[in-house]
Amino acid sequence: MSTKTLIAHTLLDVLYYSNAYRLLEDKYQGVGVILTLHHVVKASDSSPFRINRLLEITPEFLEQTIQQVIALGYEIVSLDEMHQRLLNQQFEHRFICFTLDDGYIDNYQNAFPIFKKYNVPFTIYVTTGITEGTAILWWRCLEKIILKENQIELEMNGKDECFETKSLTQKQGVFNQLYWYLRNMALKQQHTVIFALAEKYHLSIEELCLNCAMSWEMLKELAQSPLATIGTHTVNHLALAKLPIADVKNEAILCRDKLSQHLQIDANHFCYPYGDEASASNREFNIIEDLGFKTATTTRKQVIRAEHSKQLFELPRIPLNGHYQQQRYVRLLLSGVPTGLWESTKRFLKR
Ligand SMILES: [Zn+2]
Repeated sequence: MSTKTLIAHTLLDVLYYSNAYRLLEDKYQGVGVILTLHHVVKASDSSPFRINRLLEITPEFLEQTIQQVIALGYEIVSLDEMHQRLLNQQFEHRFICFTLDDGYIDNYQNAFPIFKKYNVPFTIYVTTGITEGTAILWWRCLEKIILKENQIELEMNGKDECFETKSLTQKQGVFNQLYWYLRNMALKQQHTVIFALAEKYHLSIEELCLNCAMSWEMLKELAQSPLATIGTHTVNHLALAKLPIADVKNEAILCRDKLSQHLQIDANHFCYPYGDEASASNREFNIIEDLGFKTATTTRKQVIRAEHSKQLFELPRIPLNGHYQQQRYVRLLLSGVPTGLWESTKRFLKR
């Protein structure tokens, strides 16, 4: 576990065991929460790498979370229902929406049966390039290559670099370094680097993508379930803020059209790839609103408040993070206190 995660765990534990969050809950809890999930995988199949592992929770943790939110009196609702409640300012009961990003096969295999068991609604935001094997899941490619190789050679900033990746510690260290090096790069350059790595280390980017994707057949089955909402998550899963306006529009429209064609649905809820400030901001919020979507979600970490009815294209979410798979952390995050305090601190420091 990293020092940062350890400090976060300690702070959360102090908030929880001192019961301090209960005193602040009324101020911070808002009217509901949209939860973000990515992979739902058995602990034995989990990634050995920290950055990718934070995107994975176990089926048991998902099930316990559903049980806890029901016990706390939340109503688990669809995005359509949440949208109506925001428009009507109808907040007698706090709501929860479960959203799963990207369209991975494990959602179908491990999460769908649990949602069915509890008869609760959920949303899958689909990146159609993942379904069709054309998306470049560079973080997964990087993981695969580093796990397989004892040494990685790469040209970085015009210099030939060589990284030792024998031990798991070395693999983790190199993965972290290269992850952020690639994440912060311009898109074209990022793809050039990952294509070169894939060729050198004999990895099929398409095969890797298809292996973790839900097929159109599976998506059809989900689309026919009254519990599932299928949302638009672009064609190629690119950071939209790095693209020209015409490409941003295409990424959203082509994905929505493909989902409508294959599944006979209106995929009118949108989710920004990555969803952080560097990937989606005012320009993208306006474009998505103009394209006629009903709502759009980010990965800004906040609960939903009544005033979000006027910010439907920049809705925040709370992640169910693989490093925080304890029900006390879920309880705390639902209270809105940790994320609310963090926001207040950031605002204070900016003044
Ligand atoms: Zn995504």
